[in-house]
Amino acid sequence: MEKKGCLGIPRALMFYRYFPFWHTFFETLGWKVMVSDGVRRKEKIIYFEDSCLPMKLLVTHAIQLKDKVDHLFIPRLVSLHRTYMMCPKFRGAPDIVRLATEGSVSVIDETIDLRKGGISLFQSFLKIGEKLNASKSESKKAFQEAEKSFSKFQKEWIDRIHCLPTRQLFEIDIPIPPAGRKAPLRVAFIGHPYNLFDTDINKDLLALTKRLGMEVLTSDFLSEKEIDREVSGLSKEIYWSSGREIVGSLFHFLSGGVDGVVFLTSFKCGIDALLQEFIKRRLKVRGGSSTPLLILSFDEHTGREGLTTRLEAFRDVMEQRK
Ligand code: SF4
Repeated sequence: MEKKGCLGIPRALMFYRYFPFWHTFFETLGWKVMVSDGVRRKEKIIYFEDSCLPMKLLVTHAIQLKDKVDHLFIPRLVSLHRTYMMCPKFRGAPDIVRLATEGSVSVIDETIDLRKGGISLFQSFLKIGEKLNASKSESKKAFQEAEKSFSKFQKEWIDRIHCLPTRQLFEIDIPIPPAGRKAPLRVAFIGHPYNLFDTDINKDLLALTKRLGMEVLTSDFLSEKEIDREVSGLSKEIYWSSGREIVGSLFHFLSGGVDGVVFLTSFKCGIDALLQEFIKRRLKVRGGSSTPLLILSFDEHTGREGLTTRLEAFRDVMEQRK
């Protein structure tokens, strides 16, 4: 079928969770989806503002795509839960991209705010379909296909993370090789999805971990219920959805089942700075943790060599404890 045009999705931020959904929705509506490549050797990250690295990468990726596509898809993510909020930078993301691209490309920036109830996600995607001249029934069908594709992707997640290189984790319809031998050490990686899976941020820490003989787990392995159970005892509710997920999964993994936990944070991220402080205090109250914890902070100057040294040292600590 001839495509209606080309729609660009920057390989940044919540691409690292929702790409399978977005990809299927737009492809079912008859649009070709183009994803940015990532930062190639010698290419500069765009310093659009004094922001966290994930936001700078969004701008860099949007600029890579702007002359190749008819529209960029940068949703205004306000809330992805009934109660909790996204970081305010997500609200401004489409405007930042418009400024950085000087209005040279159309930006589809529909608001997604799930505090309004279960049907609001569907309504947002109906409006997105409308902007792309799709009828209500076409958008409805595309939305249903996207839900199916996302659920299939989630079921494959454990195999994907064990068997695929990090760059291919979000490729759709890719054959997943059979799992190899189980690694002797199990390490849980906690953080915002883009910190965990964007190799331009973390220098492909997951591949390095696997190469050093460790098995990778992430909070995507946990259900909402498990996270709720961990955060329900806190004296103060965590307002940010990502913060809640990070703290819940961190305490879940620290209480057993893995040999170590690595928390990946972004330098200049206010939420991560607060969470680190919160986690340290909480651990102090609990009398520490018997599971080793490593906190790594990333910015554009982070080097691979330093990371390797820290990860090797962390592996030694885990081996001694084991
Ligand atoms: S949560 Fe932190 S890292 Fe993520 S966009 Fe907001 S400030 Fe940046």
